[in-house]
Amino acid sequence: MAKDIEKMIILGSGPAGLTAAIYAARANLDPLVLEGIEPGGQLMITTDVDNYPGFEQGVMGPDLMLIMKKQAERFGTRFEQVAIDRVELDGTKVLYAGTNEYQTHTLVISTGATAKLLDLESESKLMGHGVSACATCDGFFFKDKVIAVVGGGDTAMEEATFLTKFGSRVYVIHRRDKLRASKTMQERAFNNPKIEFIWDTTVTEIFGTPEAGVNGVRLHNVKSGEDSTLECQGFFVAIGHNPNTEIFKNQLEMDEIGYIKVEPYSTHTNIAGVFASGDAADKIYRQAVTAAGTGCMASLDAEKYLVEIGEAD
Ligand SMILES: Cc1cc2nc3c(=O)[nH]c(=O)nc-3n(C[C@H](O)[C@H](O)[C@H](O)COP(=O)(O)OP(=O)(O)OC[C@H]3O[C@@H](n4cnc5c(N)ncnc54)[C@H](O)[C@@H]3O)c2cc1C
Repeated sequence: MAKDIEKMIILGSGPAGLTAAIYAARANLDPLVLEGIEPGGQLMITTDVDNYPGFEQGVMGPDLMLIMKKQAERFGTRFEQVAIDRVELDGTKVLYAGTNEYQTHTLVISTGATAKLLDLESESKLMGHGVSACATCDGFFFKDKVIAVVGGGDTAMEEATFLTKFGSRVYVIHRRDKLRASKTMQERAFNNPKIEFIWDTTVTEIFGTPEAGVNGVRLHNVKSGEDSTLECQGFFVAIGHNPNTEIFKNQLEMDEIGYIKVEPYSTHTNIAGVFASGDAADKIYRQAVTAAGTGCMASLDAEKYLVEIGEAD
């Protein structure tokens, strides 16, 4: 049986997807949001969000996402909690979730990115309570505190250098004896008097409680086999991100990491009718407000395309 073709399907329910939904629903495009396995997206695993405009006193991540969802629902957005595992993007776009099939004239991709983590139990327990994966977001909370950063690439050097604005001392813990970061980033970090490197070392546990925050980490020297502890109040994991774009491989143009390429200052991908927004297409800013901004752009770009192909009404 032929299925109805949707005007617009939005993949993902983080700030990008929900903003796209608000705009599309208010333009009477009757959008369907497929929420994925993480309804609300990355902000669901954090606590205070202090930099999203409009909240003078800050807002809890999950509260912000609930407000955005209700705002999208108010204009009639439909939601389904499914994750798409396969897509065909030429012509009418067809999305598959197991045996379920969805067809749409336009697709807004807002599948986000996932911060790589160490996979420690204590890390997930203390995420948002002293543990963070985003220095821009959370550095401010660690004024005059001791901060530890894990990683050896450009992200780690950038985050560690940024965190010296706040922390009294910043330790960079790296599992090897040299960095992967570019020479410039390395030099900047080496020349910063607040940064101290701990080489050949992994973190095996983070100490603290959700109520009192982090108070230290257990270190393991991979060469000597010795264990030790380091006192710190902030712990930042800076080992990179994985854009959630695997299902679009070989159809959409991406960079070497998997971030979807869009035309400059637009959300157009290389396929007509497919628009990318939020962290899935942004390896630089990765903020809730930029994700929301490009979600808005994607919805407007998709609406214009629907008008062009005569499917807006
Ligand atoms: C711990 C932490 C704290 C942060 N704090 C802040 C902060 O204070 N301020 C700030 O501005 N930013 C913060 N960020 C960054 C911010 O969360 C992201 O920039 C933002 O969430 C990106 O929004 P997005 O909509 O692009 O994607 P995401 O929020 O990552 O949402 C992606 C969505 O796509 C869905 N999805 C993925 N794959 C599929 C699929 N195959 N099918 C269907 N759906 C799919 C997921 O279920 C999810 O709903 C933080 C991030 C983290 C990890």
